[in-house]
Amino acid sequence: MSEIPGHILVVGAGLGGLRTIEALRSAGYSGLITLIGAEPELPYDRPPLSKQVLSGTWEPARTQLAGYERLRELHVDADLGNPVVELRGTRAILANGHSVDAGAVVIATGVRARRLPGQTDAFHTLRTLDDALALRSRLAHADNVLVLGSGFIGNEVASTAVEQGKTVTVVEAAPHPLARSFGPAVGGMTARLLTDAGVTLLCDTTVEEFLDPDSGVAVRLATGDELRAELGVVGVGGIPDLDWLADDRVIVANGVHCTERGSVVGTDNIWAVGDAAAWYDPACGEHIRTEHWTSAQDQAKIVAAAILGVSVPTMPTPYVWSDQFGMKIQVLGRVAPDDDIVQLHGEGFGGGAIRGTVLGHFADDRLTAVTGFGAPAIVARYRAAIVGVFDRAQVEAFATGLAAKRVPAGA
Ligand SMILES: Cc1cc2nc3c(=O)[nH]c(=O)nc-3n(C[C@H](O)[C@H](O)[C@H](O)COP(=O)(O)OP(=O)(O)OC[C@H]3O[C@@H](n4cnc5c(N)ncnc54)[C@H](O)[C@@H]3O)c2cc1C
Repeated sequence: MSEIPGHILVVGAGLGGLRTIEALRSAGYSGLITLIGAEPELPYDRPPLSKQVLSGTWEPARTQLAGYERLRELHVDADLGNPVVELRGTRAILANGHSVDAGAVVIATGVRARRLPGQTDAFHTLRTLDDALALRSRLAHADNVLVLGSGFIGNEVASTAVEQGKTVTVVEAAPHPLARSFGPAVGGMTARLLTDAGVTLLCDTTVEEFLDPDSGVAVRLATGDELRAELGVVGVGGIPDLDWLADDRVIVANGVHCTERGSVVGTDNIWAVGDAAAWYDPACGEHIRTEHWTSAQDQAKIVAAAILGVSVPTMPTPYVWSDQFGMKIQVLGRVAPDDDIVQLHGEGFGGGAIRGTVLGHFADDRLTAVTGFGAPAIVARYRAAIVGVFDRAQVEAFATGLAAKRVPAGA
């Protein structure tokens, strides 16, 4: 796109949408910006929903990313609680029948919680503030909790429930937790975090049937066993909700396909950021969709710069974290389930204490990522080694150097 559009429409009033607007304004964009949001709430942050909000240590107001005053400062025309239901070129049709015509559109609509086949309404999912508040009030009155799915969100819910003294069972279809992204090393250590905290973890176990919701939270497993609980939560990931994007030019396959600068493939004036977007990743030659808080922010800066035709920042090393069972699990870099794993620090991989353990992920003998368990200060040191695609010998020397300096793992 050569000309700077006079009006930019941002669809989705979450993290990616807000950060795009902030980046546009801080780069000096003075045109019109319209922000359309499906939820009635002002932009809010999601990571605290499964942590501080669910545990009751934060009230919802603390999750707010921008209030009305901030939106006024940003000169944003916001319409919240009125989703886009159709996009025709760069003309968006809203649920109330109104339409918005803009010179460029940024899609930042995130994902909705995936449901399991046959899932009954007796089970909660966790994506929105409303979901978190509903779950929180039910959690207060439940003694036992059944969580289906041992990914980050399922484990965080399990962790919060355990902290509150609940009896928790987690069912996972894969052989270990976090199996969508990680192999048995990280998965096995995470399993130990759960079981050490007293969670009953059933891996390699699928739900055959959700039983009549009138009988409460109840499932029959493929083994024939029935599980019942007072509270049920399904945490099996998210799916981009892009049915409204009826544009033949746009490829929607697990996220809207974008170039490595966030321009939607097949268009020259539509962009996408955050959980809904599958950006081309030159490192692996594929379109990759991530559900990472930092990626949404990083992509927002890149898209704003690309729209304005100013110097585009490079995409930083991917980063995601999760807080569970009193520990921060951090992943810096690109991981794959078949990575070769080397323990760089700590002794958790060998069955020892998990806190302070840092694992190196290698592909073709090169460091692609590190995963840390309760070791934030050490994880941060590895950024340069990942960017520099260190080989094994370099990484081992680096790890030995850090150990000699006695760098503390961090809080
Ligand atoms: C419970 C929870 C805990 C998390 N914890 C972590 C964590 O610890 N670490 C981490 O890295 N990441 C975490 N994440 C992921 C992180 O929050 C997301 O990656 C981030 O919010 C993505 O930003 P986004 O703008 O793409 O989507 P969102 O923040 O989800 O915003 C999308 C917005 O678009 C709106 N929308 C949808 N459809 C339409 C439409 N048709 N029209 C208008 N608006 C629409 C939605 O209502 C929503 O408000 C967590 C997510 C959840 C749900």
